[in-house]
Amino acid sequence: MFKNYEEFNVAKSRCNICSIGKVYNTVVCSDGCKSNPLVLVIGEAAGSEEVEQGKPFIGKAGKLLRPILNEFGFRKSNTLISNVIPCRPKDNQFPKDDELVKACFEKWLKNEILITNPKYLLLVGSQPLKFILGYEGITRIRGDWYNFSMEDRIIETMPTYHPSFVLRKMYMDDGKKIMEQFRDDIEEVAIKAGFK
Ligand code: URA
Repeated sequence: MFKNYEEFNVAKSRCNICSIGKVYNTVVCSDGCKSNPLVLVIGEAAGSEEVEQGKPFIGKAGKLLRPILNEFGFRKSNTLISNVIPCRPKDNQFPKDDELVKACFEKWLKNEILITNPKYLLLVGSQPLKFILGYEGITRIRGDWYNFSMEDRIIETMPTYHPSFVLRKMYMDDGKKIMEQFRDDIEEVAIKAGFK
């Protein structure tokens, strides 16, 4: 469908095909290694700061996630950061229309996975868990490895919490445990990818 990443990215950055992108029509392109990344980190959707700066995970959630990735050896040269939805949904609410999200996934993230060929996926949050592995219940499922099958590939995939959830929990009773689990999951992916 797309000859290479550049062609894919130009098409993606011009996307305004569905109602998700009708309100804030700036598409946030992925950040990092575009060819055979060891890890593709997948979040939910862009927020206001991501739209302003044109990069995923730049706002509050990114300020928690990116330093942890960095600490465990994830770099621009070995990691790509993307989202299930590359633009900012209306009212910052992940769309409730699953068919709309599935169409967005089929058109962009699925092609991005095919073109960039990541070795491992790190899913952050319940939305990538739902739309990539088809599971619900991040608290129960996080921290284990799953196989994501697509066309002729099988990619080992680790789901973990979304950093916004970790931040929200920070000052609650289980906040410390959740932060530890989040860090442990990311560290396990780093070890598997050979970063540590
Ligand atoms: N939350 C996400 O899931 N992705 C981003 O890029 C920013 C915040």
